[in-house]
Amino acid sequence: MDISYILNQLGEERELYFNAVTPPIMQSSNFAFDTVTALRGAFGNEKSAHLYTRGNNPTVEILRKKIAALAGTDDALILGSGAAAMATAVISQVQQGDHIVCIRKPYGWTDKLCRIILSRFGVETTFVDGTSASDYFDAVRPDTKLFILESPNTFTFELQDLSATSAFAKEKKITTIIDNTYCTPIGQRCIEMGIDIEVHSASKYLNGHSDVVAGVIIGRQEIISKIYKSEFMNLGAIISPNDAWLMLRGLRTLPIRLKQIEESTAKVVSYLEGHAAVKEVLYPFSKSNPQLFLAQKQMLWPGGLFSIYLNTEDISKVEKFCESLTFFKMAVSWGGHESLIMPACAFYPADYSGIRTYPPNLVRIYIGLEESAVLINDLKQALDCIV
Ligand SMILES: *Cc1c(COP(=O)(O)O)cnc(C)c1O
Repeated sequence: MDISYILNQLGEERELYFNAVTPPIMQSSNFAFDTVTALRGAFGNEKSAHLYTRGNNPTVEILRKKIAALAGTDDALILGSGAAAMATAVISQVQQGDHIVCIRKPYGWTDKLCRIILSRFGVETTFVDGTSASDYFDAVRPDTKLFILESPNTFTFELQDLSATSAFAKEKKITTIIDNTYCTPIGQRCIEMGIDIEVHSASKYLNGHSDVVAGVIIGRQEIISKIYKSEFMNLGAIISPNDAWLMLRGLRTLPIRLKQIEESTAKVVSYLEGHAAVKEVLYPFSKSNPQLFLAQKQMLWPGGLFSIYLNTEDISKVEKFCESLTFFKMAVSWGGHESLIMPACAFYPADYSGIRTYPPNLVRIYIGLEESAVLINDLKQALDCIV
């Protein structure tokens, strides 16, 4: 299905609402029925009927159709956050006594879901490096039910081979879930590569305007129906009709935003790779990435998020660099219109004591929709402050 059709037409029944170009925000929790037969019918078909907004809502439904079609599969569920989407999807696939193999250094709350919450319910997780598909194969036990992937991750950008891992999982009847937030559903075709369930934080590119927190779960009808009937309805972490409407608006421009970000990011990365104050750039499509071949094989879009190692071990210089930037805002998250930086040193106490996953000179950079020349000038003046 072509992307323009999905973003502009699919799911929009304009004749139902005065031929308005933009759909209404159906801000209603509840829907009424004229006959018992009709009400009974809605109970039997809650995922597509309009009965109660925890289950389905007309504004949210338009979004569900578009998101599923963007990923090239049957159905999607829209939740109130990416974390809710991941927790709902993972919990739906395991029970007491099961084993999960998860990528090492996934999104922080995915890590905590496995380590802290699932372990309380008798579900054990092995974390693997995953840069070689055999890492997953070697960790499999007779009780392994689920592989969790995140390719690339969003701080150091290691990849997993999606086709090889999903083919092996299918052979062993193991379900695969990927967090595909970095690439978006159009930038990496996970389901076509054999992955069962695709999860995204829609707070990033899908909404794209830094004004909504949301998440999605995408997959084949049998998988989504099963999640819908149980964990989705029971955990109840839905998106509001108002936020779904904002997401529909954001989604209309997804391809042009990605195009602009791709162009600017290539220019900024190439500038930073040539700068003496930058020791290394971590970016999937960087020439120095040892996994470049895999990135080019499975990613259709290179991304707007990368990290740099500054050429210093001095935390005060790292802080000076971050605080000298004027266009780049210092903040968590990414995927909106505004360029951002996130220094790893902010995760740790000022004296850098305790357990540290990342070195102090690692800074994550997100390229938004500003002109690339403006961003490069801003980086230049901030780097000049520390050399
Ligand atoms: C932001 C993010 C999440 C969590 O999404 P929220 O919408 O903030 O709950 C999960 N995975 C990745 C890769 C993310 O970047």
